[in-house]
Amino acid sequence: MITFEKVNKYYGDFHVLKDINLTIQKGEVVVIIGPSGSGKSTLLRCINRLETISEGSLIVNEMKLSDKKTNINKVRRNIGMVFQHFNLYPHKTVLDNITLAPINVLGVSKDEAKQTAEFYLKKVGIPDKASSFPSQLSGGQQQRVAIARGLAMKPDIMLFDEPTSALDPEMVGEVLDVMKALAKEGMTMVVVTHEMGFAKEVGDRIVFIDQGKILEEAAPAEFFENPKEERARLFLSRIL
Ligand code: ADP
Ligand code: MG
Repeated sequence: MITFEKVNKYYGDFHVLKDINLTIQKGEVVVIIGPSGSGKSTLLRCINRLETISEGSLIVNEMKLSDKKTNINKVRRNIGMVFQHFNLYPHKTVLDNITLAPINVLGVSKDEAKQTAEFYLKKVGIPDKASSFPSQLSGGQQQRVAIARGLAMKPDIMLFDEPTSALDPEMVGEVLDVMKALAKEGMTMVVVTHEMGFAKEVGDRIVFIDQGKILEEAAPAEFFENPKEERARLFLSRIL
């Protein structure tokens, strides 16, 4: 579904991603962990081309992102992204937040978009919030709206960039539960998170990145019980 081959990226002179090789299969849940500033968000953002790569090849859904002929809107349509700070439209209702892209980008009818939105709101456990505004919701509820909004586009891939980092501790669980359910249904997910419990339980693979390099890639049990890289060990000792 996603293949990075010798991907390098620079911000000006700064070498942010170094020789990234990474393959993600359909239905896999890959958890990316690593210190702040190591390039996790950049790596994620390259997948839906919010950032462009400088060198190498990145193929998503059989489309080569660096190819001029690739229709980038088509790539993006199939990828949902959930951010740390929800990024909902504050002046639009929950329903409008969710139906906007399906109506404008996919061209579905208002009625159908509304039905789809209601379906996903139910799925994320807040069927009664359709006419609320984001500011009337808790952080956990807002993040669940953001997930429903992503799902309403019927994506093949969901990207999560520290989706629970901005939440009060008591709301982390409700968002992780929604993500867990999504993983169980077979969604292909790439998740940047510091929630090691989630990584262990839900991740098929852990990718540890430091200073722009993938230093270790392993099954969760292996990674957490016996990290091979000194820097991975150090990182785990700091956050666990
Ligand atoms: P992480 O998500 O792991 O914290 P990021 O991918 O956000 O890391 O950033 C990696 C490095 O790239 C950091 O040093 C950051 O300051 C730098 N960086 C991120 N975005 C930009 C940008 N648009 N321009 C220049 N430097 C950037
Ligand atoms: Mg980040």
